Amino acid sequence: MSLVVRARRVVLPDGERAAAVHTAGGVVTAVTGFDDVPAGAVTLADDEVLLPGLVDSHVHVNEPGRTEWEGFATATRAAAAGGVTTIVDMPLNSVPATTTVEALRVKREVAAGQIAVDVAFWGGAVPGNAGELRAMHEAGVVGFKCFLLDSGVPEFPPLDDAGLRAALAELATFDGLLIAHAEDEAVIAAAPEPAGASYAAFLTSRPPAAEETAIGRLVAATRDTGARSHVVHLADGDALPLLRAARASGVRVTVETCPHYLTFAAEDVPDGDTAYKCCPPIRESSHREALWGALTAGDVDLVVSDHSPCTPELKRLDVGDFGLAWGGIAGLQVALPAVWTGARARGVPLSQVVCWMSAAPARLAGLPGKGAIVVGRDADLVAFAPDEPFTVGRLEHRNPVTPYAGRELTGVVRRTWLRGREADGSPLGRLLDRGDR
Ligand SMILES: [Zn+2]
Repeated sequence: MSLVVRARRVVLPDGERAAAVHTAGGVVTAVTGFDDVPAGAVTLADDEVLLPGLVDSHVHVNEPGRTEWEGFATATRAAAAGGVTTIVDMPLNSVPATTTVEALRVKREVAAGQIAVDVAFWGGAVPGNAGELRAMHEAGVVGFKCFLLDSGVPEFPPLDDAGLRAALAELATFDGLLIAHAEDEAVIAAAPEPAGASYAAFLTSRPPAAEETAIGRLVAATRDTGARSHVVHLADGDALPLLRAARASGVRVTVETCPHYLTFAAEDVPDGDTAYKCCPPIRESSHREALWGALTAGDVDLVVSDHSPCTPELKRLDVGDFGLAWGGIAGLQVALPAVWTGARARGVPLSQVVCWMSAAPARLAGLPGKGAIVVGRDADLVAFAPDEPFTVGRLEHRNPVTPYAGRELTGVVRRTWLRGREADGSPLGRLLDRGDR
């Protein structure tokens, strides 16, 4: 199996240029000049750019157990349609939660044979399972997710400070990675309860201080244990100085944000439209602009979807109540155009977006075969038309609810290849372990 794709614009690690990407057996074998191609090479259209396949390290698939929310077949079809060739599945919202080696085995078995892109797994760190972490690490999970407050599902309880430190201390013995949902329980308990259709009231119920307090706890525990940690879905621009200072002082903490925090702003969220409910919440535009600035400055490392769908019933669109609705935004398939639309408007180059959404998440998840068009890595490629506008319509994920519905975005994914084969939604994906190449 060999595929050669050439384009006038190819995003390579050292910049963008005209090139031909040669592949064989699913791996990149050479990157040559545009004209140096055999007969039968694919030539992209003049308005298309060749990108490495994206890596989305924050996807909640929910299968088995809550497959009616989202499953492996539908999530990975959405990924392929959106130019995402690798997803890393979150350990919660499925049943079982991925908090034991046995649960990991169950999830891998369920995923096998129905995935349209490659899939790796996060494990979970919950109270009482510190002794299980090393075995899960050796079984191939890319790292461990924890919550610092109620996760919303009973089978995935949060870590208190002692539990957080115990998990980090254990992970430090094998340089494992802890990723944390950083909102503080006590700060949120002291805030007004969310209720009703008012988005402003929901925002007040989850203040920025909840993120700052939890991130402060995580940073302190990371510093004291010498471990590695990562803040998922940062929404709070006011937490950036604290993270910047921690990183400057040598604390090994990385940070991600999500397309919805870079696209939407609280001022524009319609009351009653619970498709926008997620935790931490979409904050005011000042936070959005601070996150863009931090990405550009290198203070935020990556952008991943936090695709977290549920059934329309659980979104409570019937009553539009932000207190009752499940929190989570479905956006895996439109992550690239959403971020690119925002980047383009701010003068950020496409190659930078590709770093945030491919190379950086591949590095976070320890997947050396992914994240760039480089000889020896997987031939995961995307033909992207960066100047073509479109309106978000029906998406491939299981439940159609998304705040992106009807939104005008710029940048269309025209074709995706997974290990040299057209990723057309058929089950070409592989299960990946940390370190696979
Ligand atoms: Zn999540």
